[in-house]
Amino acid sequence: MVRVMCSGRIDLAHILRAFAKGADGVFIGGCRLGECNYLTHGNYHALNLVLLCKKIFEHIGLNPRRLQIAFMSGGEGNLFAAEADDFSKTIKELGFIGQADRIGPSQLEAVLADVGRLVPFITIEKHAKLTARLKDAADWENHFSLAEIKQLFDQVASYVIDPAKCQACMICARSCPVEAIEGGKGLIHVIAQDRCIRCGTCLNACPPRFGAVTRIDGGPVPPPLPVDKRTIVRKGGQEGKKSTSTERALP
Ligand code: SF4
Ligand code: SF4
Repeated sequence: MVRVMCSGRIDLAHILRAFAKGADGVFIGGCRLGECNYLTHGNYHALNLVLLCKKIFEHIGLNPRRLQIAFMSGGEGNLFAAEADDFSKTIKELGFIGQADRIGPSQLEAVLADVGRLVPFITIEKHAKLTARLKDAADWENHFSLAEIKQLFDQVASYVIDPAKCQACMICARSCPVEAIEGGKGLIHVIAQDRCIRCGTCLNACPPRFGAVTRIDGGPVPPPLPVDKRTIVRKGGQEGKKSTSTERALP
């Protein structure tokens, strides 16, 4: 399958999705480095994404040669054909993804889905390296190390809301891009960890005077507050309410 788009628009999620849909290899052809027509020079970003994804592949047990990037101008059709030809030979040698990597189909699906859910977290954590402009190809191999990828996955951030501090202002829930925050008016908010994509938006959104959202790096996450304990009753403000599960002063 061929997709035509600017290489600067490529996202880690696109690459992972192609593999999750059964591609045995992904080849990205971008404009020559330093020759992008736009100030963003997005082809450097595409290069960094590929270098990052290759290391992630090594970390999860997939052959990084299944992903390739090459740079050429619009007039270098021959170069494109030669690169694409070489790559398809490589993929034929490697064999089917999963089978050749000794990962069963369900495990492969699960591991790619797990990494896919972490794309926002990974791209935020590696933002500085993803925006670097590597002019020397000798720097490509060591731009990301296996040790740092292992650490990245060992220290995946979780975000939790401290029930004692949450004032049910609902700002975090409105700003969450995937509706992972459960709550409502007068209810202590709770993050559904299985839906959270670890983008950190809620941490920045929660007003500093409440400071109810905390980031945990790699540690266990406390269990969510039971549903029947989430109602907030303001002291002296709402007498007569049936639930008195969590009482606090007005902020
Ligand atoms: S980190 Fe916060 S804002 Fe981001 S997905 Fe998780 S709950 Fe939503
Ligand atoms: S923004 Fe903070 S105080 Fe407001 S609902 Fe979310 S966690 Fe609670």
